[in-house]
Amino acid sequence: MLSNAQNHPMPSLQIKKNAITDEYKVTSQVLGLGINGKVLEIIQKSTGDKYALKMLKDCAKAHREVELHWRASPCANIVRIIDVYENLYQGKKCLLIVMECMDGGELFSRIQDRGDQAFTEREASDIMKSIGEAIQFLHAINIAHRDVKPENLLFSSKRPNALLKLTDFGFAKETTSHNSLATPCFTPYYVAPEVLGPEKYDKSCDMWSLGVIMYILLCGYPPFYSNHGLAISPGMKRRIRMGQYEFPYPEWSEVSEEAQQLIRTLLKTEPTKRMTITEFMNHPWINKSMKVPQTPLHTSRVLMEEKDAWEDVKEEMTSALATMRVDYEQIKIKTIKDSTNPLLTKRRKKAMQEP
Ligand code: ADP
Repeated sequence: MLSNAQNHPMPSLQIKKNAITDEYKVTSQVLGLGINGKVLEIIQKSTGDKYALKMLKDCAKAHREVELHWRASPCANIVRIIDVYENLYQGKKCLLIVMECMDGGELFSRIQDRGDQAFTEREASDIMKSIGEAIQFLHAINIAHRDVKPENLLFSSKRPNALLKLTDFGFAKETTSHNSLATPCFTPYYVAPEVLGPEKYDKSCDMWSLGVIMYILLCGYPPFYSNHGLAISPGMKRRIRMGQYEFPYPEWSEVSEEAQQLIRTLLKTEPTKRMTITEFMNHPWINKSMKVPQTPLHTSRVLMEEKDAWEDVKEEMTSALATMRVDYEQIKIKTIKDSTNPLLTKRRKKAMQEP
C-alpha cells in the first residue's frame, strides 16, 4: 500500500550515460505528442518488449521532472519509469526517459468508444479510486502533480482489466515546506498560513482536478467551459473562481446525491476548504464502491456527440490549471529569507553594513 512509500524509499535514480541504442531500438512510431515533443515507441533489444520514450532537453527543469516521476514510480497507478539516459541528440544533451508503454490510450477515448454498453456510476467510482490512489501516493511523499488532466491519464493496455495510470510530471512540485520560521509578508484573502502551510495550495490543485474529472466522468461535459471558443475566457475564469457550475437535467437527474456532494467539496473555490486526498479516499462513494449504484450514465453518448469539442475541453482544462498554478504561487507566503521585497532588501543590506 501506499504509505509504504515513506518506509521503502526508491533507490536513487541512476542516469545512464551509455547510448540508449545499446539496449533499445528506437522506432519512428509516435505514441503521442506533448508540449515538449514526441513520445516514441521503442523496443528493448534483450526482450523484444515495447516501451515509451520521452525526450527532454537537458536542463534543471527536466531533471526535476525525472526525479519526481522516479520517486512516484512505485505506485501502481503511476506510469513507471524503467530507465533514464543522458545522451547527445543532434549535438544537444538530452534526458531520455524510458517508461512502460501505455497501450490502452487516454481515459476518455476509452469511455467514448464503448458503443451501446453504458458506462455506469459504479465504474466512475472505480476510476476515481484509481486516480485517487495515484494522488494519495504522491501527496504522502510530498509531491503535488499540478497537471492532473484527461490526457495525462492513460490505460496500461486494451484489456478490460487494464490499469489507469497518471503520467507527465512536467509541473510536479515538491511540497515539503521549510516554513518553520516563515513570516507572512503578505497573505491576501485566506486563512492563517501557519494553520495550513503553503504546500496545501499545490496539493489542492490536484483535488480540483479530481473534481473536474469526476464531473466529466459522470456526464460527458466539463463543469466550466468558455462561451466564446477561447481556450479560457474571462467568463470561464470568473465562473471557476465563483464556483458557478450546475448539475443540469437530464444527464444529472439519476446521478446519486452522494456523488454530487463529493464533487461540490472537491470544487470548493477556496483551495484551503477543498477536501484533502485522505478525506477523498475515505469517502463512501470511493471506498465502498460496491455500494455505489450501477446507474447507466449519459457519458459515452455525450462524449461521442461532442467529439469535435473535446480538444477545446482539454485545452480549457490545461489553461485553467496553468492559471491556478500562477494564482497559488502568488497567494503563498514568502519567507523573509526568500523575499525580494525592496524595503526588506534595503534593510538587509543596512544590517550587513552595521558593525
Ligand atoms: P508533455 O509533457 O510533453 O505534454 P506527456 O508526458 O504528457 O508529454 O506525453 C505526451 C503524450 O504522449 C501523452 O498525452 C500520451 O498520449 C503519450 N504518452 C506519454 N507517455 C506515454 C506512455 N508511457 N505510453 C504511451 N503513450 C504515452
